[in-house]
Amino acid sequence: AVRVENLRKSFGAAEVLGGIDLEVREGEFVALLGPSGTGKTTLLRVLAGLERPDGGTVLTAPRRTTVYQEPRLAVARRVLANVVLGLPRSARAAGRRALAEVGLAGYERAWPATLSGGEAQRVALARALVRDPQVLLLDEPFAALDALTRLQAQDLVAELCARHRPAVVLVTHDVDEAVRLADRVLVLRDGTFATDLAVGLPRPRDRDDPVAVEHRRFL
Ligand code: ATP
Repeated sequence: AVRVENLRKSFGAAEVLGGIDLEVREGEFVALLGPSGTGKTTLLRVLAGLERPDGGTVLTAPRRTTVYQEPRLAVARRVLANVVLGLPRSARAAGRRALAEVGLAGYERAWPATLSGGEAQRVALARALVRDPQVLLLDEPFAALDALTRLQAQDLVAELCARHRPAVVLVTHDVDEAVRLADRVLVLRDGTFATDLAVGLPRPRDRDDPVAVEHRRFL
């Protein structure tokens, strides 16, 4: 699980996170939306222990792992070696099981360069899975995939998370994806969570929408 209280983080004079509170229980799936540059990745990096906060409390279960937009595979190692990278030799059996779970049984000896984007991302998922994470951090893991592969990968992640029940934080720009996958959708804006999804978001449609124009006249 994850518990964050009054988390603050600045880069130089710029405050990126201005007092964040967040709790994610085991088995809970939280999606994080928000405009570009608003601090979503920074929050994820703090949760991963890669970024030190300036203030506040950050408590997380010890086993946490991140899946990124790019699979970040070691090109000179075969698929199974990538999955168990940094783990003892005895982890190879679990590595095979993780590959089977993401639908890649038989790919153990393949080279990363021979994989499709979707397959490579499933290897990255297997690499996360084999570490049995209590906290799974997903930083736009589907963004680089084509539409159909993305849907399949989203279904796979939903299934894996339902089975293994880590606390999940997914950063995404895709509102449909957030609503489809998450138990809870949070919107980060100006350093804190917005309570009203629509506040301050640009609404370009209003300009030409006759109902909106009429509504403005009325107001
Ligand atoms: P996007 O949706 O575009 O990925 P984001 O919401 O994930 O954006 P962050 O990557 O967390 O946003 O960045 C938030 C702000 O902090 C940005 O203005 C960024 O330039 C700044 N920032 C992030 N990391 C650093 C760093 N190491 N040094 C200085 N500034 C940083």
